[in-house]
Amino acid sequence: MASKHYVCERCGGLAEICHHKTYITPQNIHDSSVTLSWSNLEAVCRTCHQHEHYSNTEVCVEGLTFDASGNFVRIPPGAPSS
Ligand SMILES: [Zn+2]
Ligand SMILES: [Zn+2]
Repeated sequence: MASKHYVCERCGGLAEICHHKTYITPQNIHDSSVTLSWSNLEAVCRTCHQHEHYSNTEVCVEGLTFDASGNFVRIPPGAPSS
């Protein structure tokens, strides 16, 4: 974040969130090449981060989605997954 001077890489606003271009999943969360790789990180503001995760589909990983705080939550069984 500091390397980007806290500037959103998309709109130039105040970057508050470090977005992982490759979404973090239970399978790769311990893989430092994904979670810590500079090339996988993008400094974005809240608005752009919301757009990234909510624009096309709310589901990034099958069976998982994000809540309003950007945390992973499990989709309840039986709920539509897409
Ligand atoms: Zn932005
Ligand atoms: Zn993100």
